[in-house]
Amino acid sequence: MTDDAKDETRSVEPARDPKDASGREVGRPVEEPYRSLIPQRTGLAGMLAPAGGFGVTISNFFRPTVTEQYPSESARTKPRYHGRHQLNRYADGLEKCIGCELCAWACPADAIYVEAAENTPDEQFSPGERYGRVYEINYLRCIFCGLCIEACPTRALTMTNEFELAGPTRAGMIWEKDDLLAPMRSGMLAAPHPMVEGTTDTEYYRGEVTGTTDDQVAWVTEHRPDDPTLPANAGPEPVQTIGATAAAQYARNAAATKQGSK
Ligand code: SF4
Ligand code: SF4
Repeated sequence: MTDDAKDETRSVEPARDPKDASGREVGRPVEEPYRSLIPQRTGLAGMLAPAGGFGVTISNFFRPTVTEQYPSESARTKPRYHGRHQLNRYADGLEKCIGCELCAWACPADAIYVEAAENTPDEQFSPGERYGRVYEINYLRCIFCGLCIEACPTRALTMTNEFELAGPTRAGMIWEKDDLLAPMRSGMLAAPHPMVEGTTDTEYYRGEVTGTTDDQVAWVTEHRPDDPTLPANAGPEPVQTIGATAAAQYARNAAATKQGSK
């Protein structure tokens, strides 16, 4: 068969009818009218339905109005509010941070910087081999997601309810270890000092260390006789040291509270 004959054969194929027997165009999706799956209310129930929709709004008309008097009065947060971070201590005053950097790796905003150093017999800051020598959190970057505290293997890092962290300078928004360390509680000895005799870091992690021992007090007395956290030098209140950044922030907060209460 020649090419011309083939073309002739194709041209005589019957043309397809674009519509089926019911008259619907072939290939076009069936368009069905919209039908709600929610049972429709009728009668009186249907008439009262709009009032039911406003039920929450109407019920709030009769509740007492709550107006926060912030900043003249501190605003209360929920107990689990994610505020400023805190680096915790064990009951004898040693630091919980072991400088592992897991918090920094977990941080999606790259807001944490950690540098670890080796503990030595003369400078034991935390139980185990290493401690966090440098610890910084950049609050210009932090989004308070809490992933860092989830990553911390020793519960060294937690978050407080403090939210007043605004400041006038960029440098002032970087909180360092001194700013973040938890306050000293009564009976704690400031690090560095040796671990409780005969214990390992595992006993510390398990919470089996509940305070300082006479040997630790003797060691600090020998190496830092003027240390204000020694029982012999202690006053009625535990000694608190605070970093310069945190001190400046608290001073600003106090001034703002005073101004707001005028
Ligand atoms: S709370 Fe989130 S953003 Fe802030 S330092 Fe921790 S991991 Fe980073
Ligand atoms: S705060 Fe926790 S996670 Fe971060 S370096 Fe210290 S021990 Fe590791």
